[in-house]
Amino acid sequence: MSRNLMLMMRSLETGKQSMASVLARYRMTLIERTKNHLGYPYNLDFEYGALAQLQHFSINNLGDPFIESNYGVHSREFEVGVLDWFARLWELEKNEYWGYITNCGTEGNLHGILVGREVHPDGILYASRDSHYSVFKAARMYRMECEKVDTLVSGEIDCENFKAKLLLHREKPAIINVNIGTTVKGAVDDLDLVIQTLEETGFSHDRFYIHCDGALFGLMMPFVKRAPKVTFKKPIGSVSVSGHKFVGCPMPCGVQITRLEHINALSRNVEYLASRDATIMGSRNGHAPIFLWYTLNKKGYRGFQKEVQKCLRNAHYLKDRLRDAGIGAMLNELSSTVVLERPHDEEFIRKWQLACQGNIAHVVVMPNVTVEKIDKFLNELIAERATWYSDDGKNQSPCVASDIGKENCLCSLHK
Ligand SMILES: *Cc1c(COP(=O)(O)O)cnc(C)c1O
Repeated sequence: MSRNLMLMMRSLETGKQSMASVLARYRMTLIERTKNHLGYPYNLDFEYGALAQLQHFSINNLGDPFIESNYGVHSREFEVGVLDWFARLWELEKNEYWGYITNCGTEGNLHGILVGREVHPDGILYASRDSHYSVFKAARMYRMECEKVDTLVSGEIDCENFKAKLLLHREKPAIINVNIGTTVKGAVDDLDLVIQTLEETGFSHDRFYIHCDGALFGLMMPFVKRAPKVTFKKPIGSVSVSGHKFVGCPMPCGVQITRLEHINALSRNVEYLASRDATIMGSRNGHAPIFLWYTLNKKGYRGFQKEVQKCLRNAHYLKDRLRDAGIGAMLNELSSTVVLERPHDEEFIRKWQLACQGNIAHVVVMPNVTVEKIDKFLNELIAERATWYSDDGKNQSPCVASDIGKENCLCSLHK
């Protein structure tokens, strides 16, 4: 984006004529930035033209989705329809679940952990180191004691270490955040092993609460063959997912589903709303449920399944081509997140909008990441890399064996 445009966008004294031109130029930069995006798990491929007619309304679902408020411009029916769909996906009966459309995956985590805390007021929060930062934010906000559990190289929770930490606090209930796809490595925690570990250490089902953070894979896993199932038939308390990630939505949103019995523990009736207060936020985006409803209807189970398969296929293609080029890469089995060495050049990272952590970066293969886009990225990466590193041993690419495992790191090849 040009500096001139940036200044004009910041100005609140732009004349009418220039306003149109600022917006048109801003639109062009959005098109450009959308084209070269690889690093964040957002599906940027969607078409919601049919919903443009609704932008003239201030749709607000404040309060509880299941209880009518006095504010009439809402989209609760769409919201409940979407929630029913997710409850069915995660196998919780209509009359046994409660949930709402959140403003993002973070809000789902804040809510799930709050429900856990209300069910077990003196519970200790356990979360792996690779958990999303919102989980640790929840611990700070709610002033909960929190144990960070080690992870395996894959990014999965290390249940040996989990067991050791549980044994330190046997007398207190456990609230556990289980990752259905970690942010950086796309690792899926072994839910069954987590439950087994709890049982083996003497935690009966009424002494723990599991929140599943499925921000990214919550909606992908059900469509992956062989993937362990996230289901309320197992002793879990809540599941959350982001709506703007795999689903693709022009505004951030998310879905939170929990057991109805738990919600009574934290809700309060509010006369001003003529509703019940069980959500984190007050006013809630009433457009988001309509966008979700629209996509779920249009794609259906079959459509999502196809997209998930395409993402996994393309992710494998990217990983294989990286390795062919002598670049170490890791791809977890149930994931479309390809982890690779952090590119040497900040400009390159910015151009492709790669998310980085320490020595590694990742590409999250979403439905809009096509083979052509992957090829363009690879060709550029390979060409640029040749200028960053030399064969004489002076300028070597970083070894990332400790981040992605020795078997995935090919650093020995280009020494
Ligand atoms: C993205 C992400 C979140 C947060 O979701 P937002 O919608 O960005 O708030 C939480 N957990 C995981 C694992 C994520 O990948």
